[in-house]
Amino acid sequence: MVIGQGLAGTVLSLMLESDGKSVLVADTPELNHCSTVAAGLLNPITGKRQTLAWKASEFFPFASEFYKAAEGLLEHRFFYPMPVKRVLSSVGELNTWSSRVEEQPFSDFISTPAFCKNPEGIVSTNGCLSIESGGWVDFPEFILRTREHFSSKKAFINLKINWTDITQTQDGFGFGENTFSKIIFSNGWPADPIWNFLPFTPMKGEIITIETEYDFSDILVGSCFVLPVCTNTIKAGATYDWRNINTEITPAAREELLNKTDSFIAGNKTVVNQQAGIRPSVRDRRPLLGEHPEIDHLYLFNGLGSKGSSTAPLLAKWLIDFIYHDQSLIPEVDLKRFK
Ligand SMILES: Cc1cc2nc3c(=O)[nH]c(=O)nc-3n(C[C@H](O)[C@H](O)[C@H](O)COP(=O)(O)OP(=O)(O)OC[C@H]3O[C@@H](n4cnc5c(N)ncnc54)[C@H](O)[C@@H]3O)c2cc1C
Repeated sequence: MVIGQGLAGTVLSLMLESDGKSVLVADTPELNHCSTVAAGLLNPITGKRQTLAWKASEFFPFASEFYKAAEGLLEHRFFYPMPVKRVLSSVGELNTWSSRVEEQPFSDFISTPAFCKNPEGIVSTNGCLSIESGGWVDFPEFILRTREHFSSKKAFINLKINWTDITQTQDGFGFGENTFSKIIFSNGWPADPIWNFLPFTPMKGEIITIETEYDFSDILVGSCFVLPVCTNTIKAGATYDWRNINTEITPAAREELLNKTDSFIAGNKTVVNQQAGIRPSVRDRRPLLGEHPEIDHLYLFNGLGSKGSSTAPLLAKWLIDFIYHDQSLIPEVDLKRFK
């Protein structure tokens, strides 16, 4: 049984099914589900220091293949590969990238030609860096279609399930009339108290949807990211707040994101939506995968933090290989590192 069907549970359940396993998926919509708030961006070069994402060469190609295959299975579109354009805010930034674009491992993620003119509506005059392997996943659509898929096989239940609702039997676990050989918690933040020994550091994030004067066709990254969602409409995000762990939207976050957007996108803007969610982040910013140290066959797939779209598919494969195919987890993702 997979408990929690945000992005983590969605990817994991589909992969378990394609590995020939029979799965029951449980989820309840009332709880925090940051997957339905997230922009779903895949961007291999991120952060203030513009570094290559952790294990980008492994995660990005695998994620892209996985989402394409999932679209085929579910017969719906939710994966949108597209260039990511880094708006170069200064001549210094342009010079830094001019010397970096030929260097490994950056060169694998930079388009040819590496630099392009700004799209109309961009304030800076230094052009953009073109980044490959980017795009976005429409998480709500992906989650909904996967839920329909499992519902049509009577393999989805709309229920909140806690560890205390489950009984341990000789062969595994019992819940109501059902028995399971294995249980995997993939319920984001807050995790079930049975996992309380792990150092989750939840991180609130807010995102705004804005109507703009200009119509963009690429993902743009300046002092924040901007994702075109439909004609003259973009999503801009996201904030990071580790102090106020709640899902309230705030005027401060709206102002911060509008100011950041104004710093590189020209013209009038109207905020038409604002959302907040809590990322399941971990103290060392690495995912949490593996088996409970005291309960056999009880597993965790969590800690996707702010990068779930690119990492979830390969992480799910690693967890399945660990559970069913006798493969070890790499220490950086294995929850045993916190025992
Ligand atoms: C504002 C914002 C922007 C973001 N943008 C991006 C982005 O651009 N790219 C990116 O990769 N990531 C982004 N993220 C991070 C991304 O959202 C997460 O990495 C990912 O969605 C985590 O997925 P999850 O399934 O682990 O958790 P969740 O999405 O929280 O899903 C957990 C699910 O489990 C269910 N659940 C919980 N407890 C129970 C229970 N007891 N029984 C049954 N069901 C239960 C919940 O209802 C929920 O559906 C963003 C996050 C935020 C907040």
